[in-house]
Parts: sequence; C-alpha cells; structure tokens
Amino acid sequence: MNITEIFSSDVFDEAVMRQRLSDFAFSSLMSSISDGKRLDAAVAGEIAEAMKNWAVEKGATHYAHWFQPMTGITAEKHDSFISPSYGGKVIMEFSGKELIQGEPDASSFPSGGLRATFEARGYTAWDTTSYAFIKDGVLCIPTAFYSYGGEALDMKTPLLKSMECVNKQAMRILYLFGMDGVKSVKASVGAEQEYFLIDEKVYSERKDLIYTGRTLFGAKPPKGQELADHYFGSIKPRVAKFMAELDTELWKLGIMAKTEHNEAAPAQHELAPVFTSCNTATDHNQLTMEMMQKIARKYGMVCLLHEKPFEGVNGSGKHNNWSLSTDTGENLFEPGDTPYDNARFLLFFSAVLKAVDEYQDMLRLSVSSASNDCRICGSHEAPPPIISMFIGDEMDAILTAIENDEIYAGSGKEEFKVGVHALPKFPKDTTDRNRTSPFAFTGNKFEFRMPGSSQSISEPNVVLNTAVAESLRQFADRLEISSDFDRDLHELIKETISKHRRIIFNGNNYGHEWYEEAKRRGLSCLKTLPDCVSALEDEKNTDLFIRHGVFTKAEIRARYEIKLTSYCTVKNIEANTLLEMVSKGILPAASAFSSQLASAFLAKEQSVGGISGTYEKKAILKIDKLLSAASNSADALKLETDIAREMDNCLDRARAYRDNVIPAMNVLRTAIDELEMNVDERIWPYPTYGDILFSVK
Ligand code: ADP
Ligand code: MG
Repeated sequence: MNITEIFSSDVFDEAVMRQRLSDFAFSSLMSSISDGKRLDAAVAGEIAEAMKNWAVEKGATHYAHWFQPMTGITAEKHDSFISPSYGGKVIMEFSGKELIQGEPDASSFPSGGLRATFEARGYTAWDTTSYAFIKDGVLCIPTAFYSYGGEALDMKTPLLKSMECVNKQAMRILYLFGMDGVKSVKASVGAEQEYFLIDEKVYSERKDLIYTGRTLFGAKPPKGQELADHYFGSIKPRVAKFMAELDTELWKLGIMAKTEHNEAAPAQHELAPVFTSCNTATDHNQLTMEMMQKIARKYGMVCLLHEKPFEGVNGSGKHNNWSLSTDTGENLFEPGDTPYDNARFLLFFSAVLKAVDEYQDMLRLSVSSASNDCRICGSHEAPPPIISMFIGDEMDAILTAIENDEIYAGSGKEEFKVGVHALPKFPKDTTDRNRTSPFAFTGNKFEFRMPGSSQSISEPNVVLNTAVAESLRQFADRLEISSDFDRDLHELIKETISKHRRIIFNGNNYGHEWYEEAKRRGLSCLKTLPDCVSALEDEKNTDLFIRHGVFTKAEIRARYEIKLTSYCTVKNIEANTLLEMVSKGILPAASAFSSQLASAFLAKEQSVGGISGTYEKKAILKIDKLLSAASNSADALKLETDIAREMDNCLDRARAYRDNVIPAMNVLRTAIDELEMNVDERIWPYPTYGDILFSVK
C-alpha cells in the first residue's frame, strides 16, 4: 500500500481543486475561505461541476450536505446527481446552488425552541473552510445548519465564529509585537479518541448496551484492569486488523491517524491523529467515530464510545490538545529563545490562565452530558468535576519569580523581567506526567482531558476559543494605549498571574484533599449537568458570547433547554431499559433458579435421608431476600421515573432524574449485582462483565 498515494484520495482538497478548477475559480474560492466572502453564482457553478465530475469518476452517485446538529453526532440527507434528460435518459447534474445551500427536511432535530413548528425548516450552507469528501459513494459537503431566522442549529456555526474571534484578538496582540507579516491565527486541535471494542455476540445479548451504550448492571469480575496488563500491551490480531483498516479509511479521508494503542481497561483502545485546524479536527473526529463503529462491525466487533460503559474500570475520554498558531507556522505557546519571543509566550500563556479561571464553569458545562457525568468523578483515570490547570514545576517557578519580583535561574542574579530576560529551555517531557489534571500545559499546547469519548469537541473548543479571545481583547485594550510597552506588559502578566493563580494545581487531582483545597480556593465543583447549566444564565457568560458574536441570547437559551432535555431523555431511556431487563430477564431467571434449588432440596430430603441440603437452603434464603429487594427497588424506580417524566420545567425534571431516578437505579443495581453472584451462570440471562470485557479473543 502506498500511503502517500491513498492519503486524502477521497477528499476534494486543495491539490484537486488546483488541478480541476480554472485559476479564477480557484483563487475566488481561496479568498472566500480566508475572508469569508460569498462566492458568486458562476464560480459556485464551476466548482460544483468539477466536484461532481471528480466524485462520479470515483464512483459516487449521490451528494449530501453533511452537518452537525445539536445531537452531537452528524447528519446527512442523500440526493442523487440524477436529472431527467431527453428520451427517457438521465444525466448527472449538480448545480452551484445545490452546493452552496440545502434545505433538509430537518424538523426533528433539537432546536431548543428556536424553530417554531410553523417555520420548522432548517437550512444548510457550505462551509468552504472544510473540504468535501466521499464516504460510502456519497459526495459529502460539510455545512453549517441554521434556522429560518438565521439562528445556529448546529455545532459548527459557533465553532467557526469562535475561531474567528480568537483570530481577531490574537492578531491585535501580534501587531503590538510587530509581527506584521502574520495574516491569521488559527486554533489547532489534536483530539485523542478512546474507545472499547467488544464482540458482537455479547453486545447483541445486552439490551442495555444496545439501547443506552453502557451496561446498567454487572457484578465486578474477578479480573479487571488491576494488573495493568492491557495498557500498551500487544494488540490482538482481530483488533490489529481493525486498526489497520481504520487507518487506511481515515487516511483516504485525509485524516492523519497517527498512533493506536491499547488503553488501561481490558478491551479499551486509543487513536490519536496529528493535530490540525480546530474546525477540521472537529469534522475529522466525527468521521473517526463513525468509521470506528462501521469498521468494527466488519470484524464482528462493536465499538463502544460511551464515556462509562462499565462500572469499576476506566471510562473513555477524548483529550483535546489545543494551541494557537500563525499562518507563518509559529505556535504561540512555544516558549521562544529570545526575551522578546518569551514575552509574547508569557502573555498568551497568561491569557489562557485567565480564561480557564474566569470561565471554569463554562468549560465544565461544555463537557457535561448524561453520559460523561458517569465518568467525571475523579477516579479511574477521569478528572474530578473541578477545573484546574497543571503547568508543571518549571513554569510554576517562572510564574512565581515574575509574580514576586524574584530571581529565576534563567535571569542570572537579577529579578526576572518579562521582555528582558530569556526563559531557559524546558524539555517537554518534564512538563507533563501528571495524568490527573483536567487541563494541562504540555510544553507547547494545552490538553483538556475532560471531554467525553462520545461528545463533539466543538463545544469545549467554542468555550476555549472565545474565553481566550476575551482575555486577549482585554490585554490588547490595555497595551494598545500603553506608553511604555515593556513595563506595562510585565505588570499585566504579573497581575494576571496573581489574580488567577488559584486555578493552578500541580498535585493529585484524584485525591480527596483536592476537593477541600479547591473549595478553599473558591473554585467551582459542578458534579452533574443540572448543576452546570446555570452557567448559561450567568450574565458574565452570556455577555462573553454575545460580545464576541458567537451566540445570540436566543441561541444560548436554546442550548440550555437542549442540554437539559437530552439529559432527561437519556436518563429516562436508561431507567426504562433497566426496568425491562429486570422484570423480563433477571427476576424470572433468579426465581427459576430458586425453584430449581427448592426441588433439589426436597429431592434430597425425601430420597436421601440424613442429607441436609445446606447449600440449597442457604442459597434459597439469600436469593429470596435479594429477589424481594430487587423487585421492590424496581417498583420504586418505576415510581420515581414516572414522577420525573411528568415534570413540566426542564430543570426540575433533570434534577428529579439526578436526585431520585439515578439513586433508585443504583439501589436496584446493587441487588442485581449481588444476585448475579448467586445465580447459576447457565440460567443468568445476560453476559457478565467478564464475558464482555474479555470477549475479543
Ligand atoms: P500524549 O498526550 O499521549 O503524550 P502527544 O503529546 O504526542 O501525546 O500528542 C497528543 C496529541 O496532541 C496528538 O494528537 C498531537 O497531534 C497533538 N498536538 C501536538 N502538538 C499540538 C499543538 N501544537 N496543537 C494542538 N495539538 C497538538
Ligand atoms: Mg494525551
């Protein structure tokens, strides 16, 4: 296989465009990409024609506007290129209009009330900054999705806006540093994706996995991840084949899949791509998740993307590696060699420090969901629900020196002055081996480790981009009117460090002391989605998004409703699934087993005098107790679910699920898991944790 040849072969990328478009069309498109200008109709027509010809040559018969509604996954509606022609024949057609705008019948996607039913239409518009590609014989055109009134109904629109606002503010700062040659600053992202692979057979026997993506019960198996023998272990042949095909398919789509390895839990794996622009990384991550699920099936496996498919072993996250870089190829978080470069680095670094501290509630909300809430708890490799930032000892020492006007090793015998002294080179490897931090500076980028494995990375990046843009805006406002740049820059950085130092935490985030310490520092600890959503009502946050043109007030309100509604829906499905499995599967099985035991007991008593039947008697009593507990707990869960579901207000409803339904599910689970340990495995109706976690041989 020639990787350089297949790489990006299914993408209508810049090289193909250059080849297939007239110079005029090509340069019009390029300038539309960089300035966001609308393409004129004739140019759009030419591009559409070239795209169609290219796609048809590659075997495509259909096209689709590919978009990312607020469900967090992608959507597409296929139309064929076919158009009637003379004599009952057809021709393949695709117009500029069809390329630029679509009108999917999309009234069922969540809109949080933005689309009244009388104007339920949604529109899609081509995002020229993301290349079209072919997937399953369909030419997919990445698009933004919005309502008749122009409100965003998707994940892409705000992301593009947030990238624009961080670009704008970063450019103001770079201008102050005399970097006139830079034309744009882009947020770059590399999203590491964790997932589980299990055998199709065990999957098909667990309704909870099918309906909810996670197990709702399951006793702890004798062996889990305690031996750490899976982490980076040798990859099983079936999994290796899956990974090879996944790599090939991703490469065809221009996705730079780079590293694949086993993760900590049995059956858990990870894929990391090479980083790229934030928008493209988001599209690519969605495609990666889709491909993982499709290709797993070809090898008789199922890919689980849920954040916590199994209790008691690690959950899956998505590490969002983020940085800002210029079109001239400079990473703004790369500490430089000269005092001047270092000053710029320290300013951008402080901007992130301030952003993460000031908008910790929004960052937390951006990764909150019914499923990720199951993972964010501060155990089993998941960060606690407290946002803090790890910067490493070396950076900490530098910031301390600046803050306290102290001597730092790099500055000789003087106090460390921004813009005057150079920073020593710190090797990247020493910057981050603290895997417990939710937000870590890793030498030249920041790694946000809270996003969940099934989530779109759009939301966290929208918050990150916009919050950092706000820091930079305030910095630029101040520095633009300064009469002594070096002095004011030093003061600004010093002040920012002092004010936001509380967000820095280099210790163990999993420890219980951290909760206490974080509380003393006044950091927020938002455990669940219903705790987090109030961030969207906070004026500080609404002001931020409105000021930078990322969201309107109506869009924020819509997102508030969508988050809560989706939380309730997921919890309701989980409760119903558990109830069904218990009443139709578990209770009858346990009862059947106890009848068998009873018969055995009687048989022994009657036929073999003197034999006590001790085991049968003990087991019957135990099972009977557990059966009653499970049955009563199921009734209680049903009651709580019925009450919660009927609540009008979505916040009250979400709280009822959190406070009453989830605890009722947990009580029921305890009884079931105990039953599982006591019922004959030939009668137990569902595959156990051991069966599932070790199903891929
Ligand atoms: P790990 O986190 O496992 O130690 P790496 O640090 O090598 O692994 O990289 C993790 C991810 O970070 C990769 O997807 C990589 O492409 C991405 N990455 C590296 N540099 C940057 C950067 N400047 N901006 C954004 N992402 C980056
Ligand atoms: Mg990582």
